Amino acid sequence: MVFPLSGKEPCPVYKKCGGCQLQRMTYEEQLHHKQLREIRLLGRFGHVEEIIGMQNPTHYRNKVTAAFALDARRKIVSGVYQSSSHRVVPVDSCMIEDATADAIIVDIRRMLPEFKIPVYDERNSTGWLRHVLIRRGFATGQVMVVLVAASPIFPTQKPFARKLKELHPEITTLVLNINDRFGPVVLGQKQKVLLGDGYIEDVLCGKRFRISPSSFYQINPVQTERLYRIAVDFADLQGDETVLDAYSGIGTIGITASDRAKQVIGVELNRDAVADAIVNARLNGLKNCWFTAGDAGEYMQRMAEDGMRPDVVFMDPPRAGSDRKFLASLLKTEPKRIVYISCDPETMARDLGILTEQKHYEVRKIQPVDMFPFTEHVETVVLMSKVK
Ligand code: SAH
Repeated sequence: MVFPLSGKEPCPVYKKCGGCQLQRMTYEEQLHHKQLREIRLLGRFGHVEEIIGMQNPTHYRNKVTAAFALDARRKIVSGVYQSSSHRVVPVDSCMIEDATADAIIVDIRRMLPEFKIPVYDERNSTGWLRHVLIRRGFATGQVMVVLVAASPIFPTQKPFARKLKELHPEITTLVLNINDRFGPVVLGQKQKVLLGDGYIEDVLCGKRFRISPSSFYQINPVQTERLYRIAVDFADLQGDETVLDAYSGIGTIGITASDRAKQVIGVELNRDAVADAIVNARLNGLKNCWFTAGDAGEYMQRMAEDGMRPDVVFMDPPRAGSDRKFLASLLKTEPKRIVYISCDPETMARDLGILTEQKHYEVRKIQPVDMFPFTEHVETVVLMSKVK
């Protein structure tokens, strides 16, 4: 393990940004801090394995979003929102973000006057460019740039796209996303592809994945591979199982597990992500994976009512955790094993409490993975199995 940062010289915007809450700790201290938190929250369910840290915990974020605004002197700035405010703190480079993505954002900002692109002003709803979102495929190097703007009218679109591609030939697709709403959500519903295919592909655990602008995709590819390998290992598939991948996103976990299962069924709320998952199964030549759009709780409830019995269930809900409907129906379907992947140990503890209260399931393994160095966040994989 290398610890390249002393933790004694925090980033200049450390306080204003609020993104890296653990800046002042060395990486070793951060891992220790997370381990203690996991033990505090999950220790009552069993032994917590040692957290898996990163060899190099910097520049791991493959998705970078920058807000654009005018400062008090009407100068264009790009960066992050000051925590719990709407003031943009200028950031040109960040120790946890992908360096290529940061460089593209700076160049876009510099290009704006030349291409007469006004920056959006929230106070009076004037201007145009609100955010730039960048995603980079870790294994493929493909880069997606999404310009989030208040309207579809973009007169200098062609020369702008040409110049940007000249400066950054690594960009494989440029998308214009329209967000004319007020509020914290970055992406709007409508979009137009200005260059390339409108998505990127990446390779994880030997499988190829298409990622659209609005689909969820884990932001730390190095640790994601480790996370998925642990999850699939916990599932201990023999080849004859029906596997449910709940909260499946673009199908990454189910597809990674599919070689060892009879069939995989995925359920996911975001329709774009489901469309990606279906394409992803095809991209990998898989004929045993099905993905469906809908609420995981409702889907699980229908499965229980129809007497369907998945052998193994992967569940990877968002930070808020799962819900009563899902958990109660899950218990009714009586899978052999449940592999719960969580990005919030607090909601995970709540859900594990529900899943184990009747003592029909036991927690067998708890493995924390550091997906988000320098931040408070920690990912956990838990294996539960049915008590015989
Ligand atoms: N397993 C995927 C995605 C995990 S993120 C991966 O590893 O990449 C959580 C996912 O749950 C997101 O894709 C989100 O769109 C989805 N989601 C949120 N609420 C949901 C619900 N009620 N039912 C189904 N999916 C939901």
